[in-house]
Amino acid sequence: MSVAVVGSVALDTVETPSGVNKDGLGGAAMFFSLAASNFTRVHLIGVVGDDFPQEHIDLMASKNIDLDGLEQVEGKSFRWTGKYHDDINMRDTLDTQLGVFETFQPKLTDAAKNAKYLFLGNIHPSLQLDVLQQANADFVALDTMNLWINETREDLEKVLAKIDCLIINDEEVFDLTGERNLVRGVKKIQEMGPSIVAPKKGEHGCLLFVENKIFSAPAFPMAEVVDPTGAGDTFAGGFMGHIAQQNSIDYDTLKQAVIHGSVSASYTCEDFGPERLKTVTTEDITARYDAFVELSRF
Ligand code: AMP
Repeated sequence: MSVAVVGSVALDTVETPSGVNKDGLGGAAMFFSLAASNFTRVHLIGVVGDDFPQEHIDLMASKNIDLDGLEQVEGKSFRWTGKYHDDINMRDTLDTQLGVFETFQPKLTDAAKNAKYLFLGNIHPSLQLDVLQQANADFVALDTMNLWINETREDLEKVLAKIDCLIINDEEVFDLTGERNLVRGVKKIQEMGPSIVAPKKGEHGCLLFVENKIFSAPAFPMAEVVDPTGAGDTFAGGFMGHIAQQNSIDYDTLKQAVIHGSVSASYTCEDFGPERLKTVTTEDITARYDAFVELSRF
């Protein structure tokens, strides 16, 4: 089964202790799509400006990604600039230029409307609601950020009531619920709508709450993280890609999906932007998946 994604496609300028990458390919929907395309067909819904390099479009088109829903319009592409601290888990956003993303009105293609699995990337909750109205998906997962939690809470609550799965950072659980304790925070989120909640804890891995069950997955231990930008979106891509490929949301599939999310995210961290992710093969994924299983076996 295929998966549809709505979100940003960007040009990112990123500085980390390993160096600087200027105007590289970025965006939440791009990282999601590259990761999910290792598992299944992806329908990408997004927008870029007329300054967007053709080589980036060619790269995405060379993967199992349907770009019919990627509009290219007059104006500047979305640009994001971030700088990481020596502690790579900390970063500052230095600049965000919305460009053509400011007036983005997602329009689902027929293929995206009919996808059984849908990921609503981090965009204004009113746009996420609009996408939901266009879609016929059976399983919808969502990402959000503090901006929307703090400034557009009413809309966000409306979306949460309609989705199945929330993929979120652990600090965002606190922002959304006021709970420092993840177990209690997630319970509150489940009461708002999604029965499945996956709080990510950066280098400490990820938890998966499915109704009353809890699964804990490590992050892949890495000696060097070159650039973690997009790791969260990559995680979501691996997670949703596996679910769509298996066409199942039973508990075992969801647990495997979390590991596939972590495997995919670990590759993103190995180089700037999607440089490593774009060359990952099915064999690489299987090898690291097996290493993950070994890591947690006792
Ligand atoms: P992450 O590291 O998972 O937070 O994802 C970073 C990616 O999200 C970058 O490639 C950015 O281009 C993109 N991004 C940053 N800010 C926003 C925003 N406000 N809306 C949509 N995408 C964003």
